[in-house]
Amino acid sequence: MQLKSKVLIFASVITLLALTGIQSYLIYNTYELKKKAFVVDAKTAVGKVYRTPTMDSLMWTYRYDFLDKIQEYKSNEITKTDVLDSLKKKTTAINGTFLELYNEGMSGNSLKSEIKFRQMVSHISMVDNLGNKDSFLNEIKNDSIFLFGENYRAEDGVRINNATWTQEHEYLKDGVAIPYFLEFKTHTFIDVLDENEIMLEELSGILIAATLLFIFVVSLLYYSIQNLFKQKRLADIKTDFINNITHELKTPLSTLSLATETLTGSFAEDDKVLAKETVQIINRQNVRLQKLIDQVVESSLGYREIQLSKEEFNCTIFLNELINDYQLPLNTSVEISKKIDNTGILMVADKFYLGTAIINLLNNAIKYGGTRLEISYTLNTKNDSHLINIRDNGIGISEKYQKHIFHKFYRVSEKDTHNYKGLGLGLYYTSQIIKAHNGVISVTSSEDKGATFSIQIPFAL
Ligand code: ADP
Repeated sequence: MQLKSKVLIFASVITLLALTGIQSYLIYNTYELKKKAFVVDAKTAVGKVYRTPTMDSLMWTYRYDFLDKIQEYKSNEITKTDVLDSLKKKTTAINGTFLELYNEGMSGNSLKSEIKFRQMVSHISMVDNLGNKDSFLNEIKNDSIFLFGENYRAEDGVRINNATWTQEHEYLKDGVAIPYFLEFKTHTFIDVLDENEIMLEELSGILIAATLLFIFVVSLLYYSIQNLFKQKRLADIKTDFINNITHELKTPLSTLSLATETLTGSFAEDDKVLAKETVQIINRQNVRLQKLIDQVVESSLGYREIQLSKEEFNCTIFLNELINDYQLPLNTSVEISKKIDNTGILMVADKFYLGTAIINLLNNAIKYGGTRLEISYTLNTKNDSHLINIRDNGIGISEKYQKHIFHKFYRVSEKDTHNYKGLGLGLYYTSQIIKAHNGVISVTSSEDKGATFSIQIPFAL
């Protein structure tokens, strides 16, 4: 294959891969953007529900309670842990009401998915007017307490808000009011249920279009490459054919030109014997040329152009006669054995064409190294047909070529098979003859192990 074609195929594949990469990247980006837009919408919806006066007063119930607990803590009635425990208890107690309000508020929005709420407190500290800091929860230590919503796993949620409740307040210590500044940091998360399914649904149009486009482009590329290989094979086959036919024509033509030279030379006038011999040579070469041309013309016929004149005959007798005649002029190094059944079922076929097909196969068997040939005839009752097998012990045909050998002009171009003369038309013509009989021809072979050609001709209806 030419370098140019290889470069073209390589460039097309790389371009396809690059386009697929870019397309995947764009789809992924669209997915991310849609996801972000969805989170923004979800955040707005949650914000609307969360920032209502009812929700606010609910929040203040635990905040007042918390301020009271600080007073108890500063009066040494309870410990820090008690303060936090009581915060947990209080928020747990009102979480039911919170969820009711939240779900009621969220039910009216246009979002396609359920959104789970989760609020945590991550930092609680107080600083008195002397600058003394007292921490209940330290955000640096990463300890946080669940406040409201549903306590799902942290990795399932997206943080949508960080808020700080600050309060200037005072506690009483030994009858003296001591002012302090409270810092209470919360984080709000949401978990969108079936997020991926919703995104996929939203992107399904793009995904389907992209997949179809991809399949289309890959098929187009595959088809073009196939076509390129086919064209290349055809071009090779035609070049081979031209080379072969020129080679075949050269010998008779050069003999003819020598013969004419002899005849036109002065010594042919005196030598009648030489003149006669030369004319015979011209005749023989003429016949040879004619045969060659006939072979090309005839063997190029397609099965529709073959005019059969079918007759009913006994194939057992037909094959015996055909092989006997064929064997007569053969040299003794080729041995043909027969396994011809007396099937009792008459065959309906064109004797001349069928004979040509079988002789073609026998000629090939000998041409491609067969010295022991076997021809068998029996019935194939599975598909109601006559079965003729021609087996040889020649060079064989490796599997990868077998599907091509019945094609017009095809010749196996491996090792030294080109030392065997031929135009690549014999098997094509044979297969067309069998096809014209509604029959089937097939081959089983492997390299160096000979070949068996099978012909099946259906019983006449
Ligand atoms: P040709 O013999 O003129 O090349 P054919 O159409 O008769 O053309 O055969 C096509 C190819 O199939 C041949 O080139 C040969 O390689 C292979 N072939 C055919 N018959 C045999 C056989 N009996 N043994 C091995 N190879 C064969």
